[in-house]
Amino acid sequence: MKVLKFGGTSCGSVASIQSVLNIIKAKQAKGETVAAVFSAMGGVTNKLIEAGRLATENDTTYFDLVKEIENRHFEVVRALIDVKSQSKVFANIRIIINELEDLLKGVSLIREISARTSDLIVSFGERLSTTLIYEILHAQAFDCQYLDARKVIRTDDNFGIANVNFEVTNRQIQEFFSKTKSLQLITGFIGSTEKGETTTLGRGGSDYTATLIGGAIVADEVQIWTDIDGMHNNDPRIVKKTFPIKE
Ligand code: ASP
Ligand code: MG
Repeated sequence: MKVLKFGGTSCGSVASIQSVLNIIKAKQAKGETVAAVFSAMGGVTNKLIEAGRLATENDTTYFDLVKEIENRHFEVVRALIDVKSQSKVFANIRIIINELEDLLKGVSLIREISARTSDLIVSFGERLSTTLIYEILHAQAFDCQYLDARKVIRTDDNFGIANVNFEVTNRQIQEFFSKTKSLQLITGFIGSTEKGETTTLGRGGSDYTATLIGGAIVADEVQIWTDIDGMHNNDPRIVKKTFPIKE
């Protein structure tokens, strides 16, 4: 059993989402995968943080950022989902976007943002990307389920970089996985407190989500997929012509 994790770049465009789907389907055909964890589409978490900040200043351009986020998801729907199924998927994504807009509206009215509210706002990134991927696979009649990690990952209320309660989390993950054989599509980065408040595991926290799932179900492997093969001799975002090191 393997847990695959796909980061923001892997979920960032039509072409990269298409390769993610191919990877998942190939693994699944071999009976290897039980779970896939996703980050928000690349850049979306930063946009959500910025939208929250603009809302506290009652600067309505936060609305444009939400529109951009929505468009990026819709573009993938248009490219990868059969025309007949698209309107239902647009509606499902729109429901989530509406909730985000209501929340930002609330922030713009009270003109302040707590760490708790900020976590709730950024959680929309992973909820949207994972819903999107779920909808694409679902439209292709692929056996899979959407798992909102807040259902299984229990944390304290140290918003922004919450600490995991391993006892509860392991138990909840094990219980959940014992009842299903379907491929789970899981939101990275987020968890919830005992009171059901949304928390995040710190920036880049989706890798951690994947290892929490993998650890709890004693997976054979947790694979962190990214946009380069192996480990390069340098950071390819900064240095040109990097190459993978042999060992
Ligand atoms: N989307 C979150 C972030 O940008 C978590 C992650 O990508 O792992 O920090
Ligand atoms: Mg990362």
